[in-house]
Amino acid sequence: MRSLETHEPLPGVQVGDVGTKIGYNTIDNGYLMFNQYRVPRKALLSRFVSITKTGDFKMKSNPRIIYQIMVQTRIAITAGAANVLHRAACCATRYAACRRQFASIKGSDEERQLLDYQLHQDTLSKHLSIAMTLHLVISDLINLETQSSIEIQNGSFKLLDILHHFSAGMKALVTDFCYVGVDELRQACGGAGFLLSSGIADWWGEAAPFPTFEGVNVIMYQ
Ligand SMILES: Cc1cc2nc3c(=O)[nH]c(=O)nc-3n(C[C@H](O)[C@H](O)[C@H](O)COP(=O)(O)OP(=O)(O)OC[C@H]3O[C@@H](n4cnc5c(N)ncnc54)[C@H](O)[C@@H]3O)c2cc1C
Repeated sequence: MRSLETHEPLPGVQVGDVGTKIGYNTIDNGYLMFNQYRVPRKALLSRFVSITKTGDFKMKSNPRIIYQIMVQTRIAITAGAANVLHRAACCATRYAACRRQFASIKGSDEERQLLDYQLHQDTLSKHLSIAMTLHLVISDLINLETQSSIEIQNGSFKLLDILHHFSAGMKALVTDFCYVGVDELRQACGGAGFLLSSGIADWWGEAAPFPTFEGVNVIMYQ
């Protein structure tokens, strides 16, 4: 791919960065283009699949093992999304405990905590309770996946079908809860939630690709 002397891409190889994204910028997303470029077979990453000398594509292992890896990744995204939602709910709840607005307490000059407002409680508790419930469901999903991995090592793929349905559906549901919830919680922090220094603004950007990668949610629900 690159010259061993100059480290520049070889003729016929073009590499680059896709550019700054709305979030998730701690991960670089790059592109690679070939133009009339031949890659020697021995340079391919061929742990699970290979190309024969005559150009035939061969799976080296059971394709269901590769599918199990995708299931694991979807469950990891699901767990990550629930964590981000939980963190945002804690952040917004703490803000509501510290932030005071309007001196409406009878006989007092002190302003009320945001936490006193029922509408605000509704916003916070909705997302906090969703996040806590998701942790319980996801822990069951992780247990099922662990059991499936053990069974696969003994040659049985019987849990993979149900795991496929659960992991795809849960990935879509939880990442949608996270994407919508983190932004509502960010808004619940008022103007402070718009500051990058609040932290919560950045978490929304980090969660933004979850509904897209490892299977667009529109498809995952199906
Ligand atoms: C931050 C980030 C990191 C990524 N990292 C990787 C990576 O490491 N490796 C990798 O391989 N990929 C990666 N991806 C790519 C990602 O997997 C794809 O973006 C994703 O699968 C969607 O494909 P697409 O962008 O081609 O969307 P498109 O196919 O253009 O789809 C756009 C929209 O069209 C609709 N749509 C498409 N097809 C259908 C259909 N059949 N039925 C109904 N509606 C449909 C959906 O609403 C969909 O959201 C990454 C993406 C992001 C955002």
